[in-house]
Amino acid sequence: MADCLFCRIARQEIPAKIVFEDPQVVAFEDINPQAPSHILVIPRKHLATFNDVEAGDEGLLGHMLLVARGIARDKGLHEKGYRLVANTLEGAGQSVFHIHVHLLGGRRFAWPPG
Ligand code: 5GP
Ligand code: ZN
Repeated sequence: MADCLFCRIARQEIPAKIVFEDPQVVAFEDINPQAPSHILVIPRKHLATFNDVEAGDEGLLGHMLLVARGIARDKGLHEKGYRLVANTLEGAGQSVFHIHVHLLGGRRFAWPPG
C-alpha cells in the first residue's frame, strides 16, 4: 500500500535497521524498543490487522514465525526465553496497521501482560 509506513520500510523507502529479509518478509529493529532485543517481523504483503488474514495466508504466517524463531536463535534469545506478540486493533495496543510480530528478548517478562 502506497502510504503505509511498514510497506514503505519493506520497500526501503524509509530507513530501518533491517536484520533479515527475503521475498516474503522483512525483519527490523523497533524504533522504540521495549526490551534489549525488540525486532518486528512483517510480511511484504499489506495486511492491516490479523482480522484481515485469510485462508491462503497460512504459509506466510508460518514463515513469519519461523523467521522470528531464527532471529531469536541467532541472537541467543532462545536459551533464556523470548516473547512473540501480535497486537490486534487499538484495544490491544496496535498502532501500525500492517501486521507485525514483535520479537522481544533480553529481559524477564511479566504475565499477564499489561
Ligand atoms: P504496535 O503498537 O502496532 O503493536 O507496534 C508498532 C511498533 O512499531 C511499535 O513498537 C513502534 O515503536 C514501532 N514503530 C513505529 N514507527 C516505526 C518506525 O518508523 N520505524 C521502526 N523501526 N519502528 C516503528
Ligand atoms: Zn502496509
